[in-house]
Amino acid sequence: MRRFLSFNDFFKEYFNGKTVKLSLDGGFTCPNRDGTLSKRGCIFCTDKGSGEFAGNRCESISEQIDSQKDFLLKKWKAQNFIAYFQNFTNTYGDLNSIKSIYDEVIKRDDIKGISIATRCDCLDKEVLKYLKELSEEKLLWLELGMQTTNEKTIKLINRGYSHKVFDEKVNELKENNILFLIHAIFGLPYENKTDYIDTINYIKNIYPFGVKFHNLYICKNTDIYNMYRKENFDLMTREDYIETIIYAISNMPKNTVIHRITGDPDKRSLFEPKWCADKLSVISEIDKELKNRNFDVKTKEDIKEAIDYWL
Ligand code: SF4
Repeated sequence: MRRFLSFNDFFKEYFNGKTVKLSLDGGFTCPNRDGTLSKRGCIFCTDKGSGEFAGNRCESISEQIDSQKDFLLKKWKAQNFIAYFQNFTNTYGDLNSIKSIYDEVIKRDDIKGISIATRCDCLDKEVLKYLKELSEEKLLWLELGMQTTNEKTIKLINRGYSHKVFDEKVNELKENNILFLIHAIFGLPYENKTDYIDTINYIKNIYPFGVKFHNLYICKNTDIYNMYRKENFDLMTREDYIETIIYAISNMPKNTVIHRITGDPDKRSLFEPKWCADKLSVISEIDKELKNRNFDVKTKEDIKEAIDYWL
């Protein structure tokens, strides 16, 4: 048991066994990459659409599920699987193509839930109606990249829509009882502690089902790599990141599930900061600090309370 409400502890209790995500490639693109909004993408986005470890898009979804399950059954002895559509924008395109992907997953009994990464400007009424129907059949949540609440940074990183759009959409999701997770990045160019606190406070007030945090890292095949080489802006130190993440954990709503507390860059393309290549050591340092600062270990009762709250 961790000293925060972790993905592992939450789903182990809910599904009564180890639960893992299968990273699938639904063959989507993104309006911020295909030229609809821009061809650059968010400046940190890689050519894999920010999903370095997703399956092979040349295979059908069922083939990807089968091959990843094989691998993870051996590695983790996992009993429960979540279909995770991570890369690009997984609700972008015409409704029939979107349906053809998720209808294939929903009918599989071996898949306990679906996690769909997308953008808040790619969730129109029709898509929301469809997702709501799916969520009544199977556990489903959306993963929404917010990254920051600072409008100046949002423009700088070329997100392609404002925080106002994000805020309106998450409120609509709440009204529709569609679960969502918010993704935030600390250490974006020219941001400081005040920005991180604003982002954390926003998440706290929204009270999402889940959150994912990581620090900004620079991969070689991205726009931000060129920007960093030119402007040499400050990157977050390991110590500052650990302080910020502890502040974030201590400010999360009681029942919000913390899915991630570090990034997971592809080591072959990571440029800076080098410290985040060693994910396990960062996690262990965060755990050590939480213990030193007397954060309570989450009990089974805490986890059950969160499960009752959401599911
Ligand atoms: S929204 Fe996602 S896929 Fe699209 S450009 Fe940004 S990071 Fe890349």
